[in-house]
Amino acid sequence: MSVFLSRENFIYEMSPKHKPVLRVSSGTQLVIETYDCFLNQITSSETMYQSIDWTKINPATGPIFVEEAEPGDVLVVNIQKIELADKGVMVTGPDLGVMGGNIDNFSIKIVPIHKNKAIFNEKIQLSINPMIGVIGVAPKKGEISCGTPGEHGGNMDTTLITEGATVYFPVFQKGALFSLGDVHAAMGDGEVGVSGIEIPAKVTVTLSVLKEVELNTPLVENQEGIAFIVSKKTLDEAADSAVKEMVDYLHKRTHMGIEEISMLLSATGQVQVSQIVDPLKTARCFLPKNILNSYNIFNIL
Ligand code: CA
Ligand code: ZN
Repeated sequence: MSVFLSRENFIYEMSPKHKPVLRVSSGTQLVIETYDCFLNQITSSETMYQSIDWTKINPATGPIFVEEAEPGDVLVVNIQKIELADKGVMVTGPDLGVMGGNIDNFSIKIVPIHKNKAIFNEKIQLSINPMIGVIGVAPKKGEISCGTPGEHGGNMDTTLITEGATVYFPVFQKGALFSLGDVHAAMGDGEVGVSGIEIPAKVTVTLSVLKEVELNTPLVENQEGIAFIVSKKTLDEAADSAVKEMVDYLHKRTHMGIEEISMLLSATGQVQVSQIVDPLKTARCFLPKNILNSYNIFNIL
């Protein structure tokens, strides 16, 4: 039996200041309902820019208090299922996304979802890749808008955070205070136009706690491998830092020195871009699972 959490319980910042909307114990499966990142305010391609309340962006459903979680632990989020609504929305406009300086008009596209395809226009149907844009825990200090990514997760807009993936977060506050939102039916790495195919959803996850495990930044695991996700002021800093996290990880778990690990990542690691349009930029360093298997690393953390 899973616990249902309605999207009426949402926050715009990840922060210890919010009262938890739900308390669960480690190992609980939840179905978390989400609004799209515009709080479902955009209902047609005719919706006017002025009619949208831009303070109501990136609601994340939560926060959920996980009983066993203490600072210094890791919250493990196993994503079992992402069920999408039947249509999504995309926007772009002046000062939005990479092309924002060259775009004169705010523009909306409604994207119907039909038989696992996103109907982009008359000629293009895209395979869906349901993924979660905003997912994380309360940060170490203060409150961080759900539009901003960081060590606590948040708006990481990472295409690997999908059905079947497991995301690991450092716990900074008692109970972890987990929340998620901003689901996309599909998104390309970079999210260059400023939005994915933004869509309401129901996400099934199991939350569990690993006691006293070191982790500095979110880590995602899927069938193919693992990736450290880092958000910084620039993409360069984010990419370098993600690589260093992976080097550290391997250094602690193998007998390779950093020279050899550096060569290994140069040979088979993948530095990938998550997004380049949010207040901080997000990059990741991906390592294929077969490398971990070679060292009998089966428990990721
Ligand atoms: Ca986002
Ligand atoms: Zn989004």
